[in-house]
Amino acid sequence: MPIYLDYSATTPVDRRVYEAMIPFLTEKYANPSSIHILGREVREDVENARAVVASYIKCEPHEIVFTASGTSSDNLAIKGMAEALKHKGKHIITTSIEHKAVLETCKSLQKAGFEVTYLPVSKSGVISVDDFRKALRPDTILVSVMLVNNEVGTVQPVKEIASIARERGIIVHTDAVQAVGKLSTDVSELGVQLMSFSGHKFNAPKGIGILYIDENLKDLIIPIVCGGSQEYGLRAGTENVANIAAVAKALEILAAEGEEEVKRVRRFRDMFEQEILARVPDTYINGAGADRVCSVSNIAFRYIEGEALMVYASEVCCSTGSACTSDSVDASHVLYAMNADPVDMHGSLRFSFGRFTTEEEVKAAVEMICTSANKLRAMSPLG
Ligand SMILES: *Cc1c(COP(=O)(O)O)cnc(C)c1O
Repeated sequence: MPIYLDYSATTPVDRRVYEAMIPFLTEKYANPSSIHILGREVREDVENARAVVASYIKCEPHEIVFTASGTSSDNLAIKGMAEALKHKGKHIITTSIEHKAVLETCKSLQKAGFEVTYLPVSKSGVISVDDFRKALRPDTILVSVMLVNNEVGTVQPVKEIASIARERGIIVHTDAVQAVGKLSTDVSELGVQLMSFSGHKFNAPKGIGILYIDENLKDLIIPIVCGGSQEYGLRAGTENVANIAAVAKALEILAAEGEEEVKRVRRFRDMFEQEILARVPDTYINGAGADRVCSVSNIAFRYIEGEALMVYASEVCCSTGSACTSDSVDASHVLYAMNADPVDMHGSLRFSFGRFTTEEEVKAAVEMICTSANKLRAMSPLG
């Protein structure tokens, strides 16, 4: 039986979430924009879901926009704000370890004449607040810093960044996709004006994103998808009602059970790391020493090819680099930014744990990884 240790790539839909979706795929099929009685009922459900999401991140319901994915949220936040503020300046600050959804969006803005600073990270995968301060310019209009990195799980100093930016009236976006359910995503506490979530990273389905937009920016931000006036005119297209109901249910579950889940997942992750490090020589944790979320373990197996280890321990489902780049020969841009040894970079695997991970699975995965790694080591010309 395959063991799924790839929760950072995507998560299974929780049964309770699935059940909350069914009515909207069957009897409650009306378009929420329709003014007849069936449409109005569905509209009410969409607005109730919006209120649930708002209460989870502690904002007002009208500050929540449902989008098509985490990627769409990142695009709307960054392109939409850059376009709105381009008369004020053309400088954007982000980090070298963002998800492609942010990095490629910034690159496309560079082609359109914006200037982007990509902040470096320490060897343990964290940006420095001091570097951020130095990167600020009079024409800086926007900052985008992820709350948790998806490859190594390091937590970034978003709160400090936001507080410095706020003093200068600079807008801050955070890609909080990997933070949901693992650490606080209370927007007033973080002090950001824009925050992205993605449903499929917290046991809701793929194809639904959330973007928090500070109410003061709602009339400013420029939509990037044109069409109907859904989602305050910021995301045209008929609402994916079933998925909207799903994210609300998934966040309700997290509000009730998230704390316990974090403890359990952390225990499994720590157990996994301790065993591997003790039983396979020349291994270390990418991001060790930094504040990391409970669910991710990115391990460098020196002198081993990550792909080879995945073939040998084929029952263990994990990732090399990030999932979206796993079929490219390029090493991970995150490990590269962390100045990892090039050999170790190719021997690094990400294991990520979540709601349905069991202790038995963790133990079995440890056995398979240790046996395979030590077998490959014995054959390696490098070791
Ligand atoms: C998965 C992920 C995204 C993209 O979300 P999708 O819903 O898959 O488009 C963006 N940022 C981070 C950090 C992610 O982990």
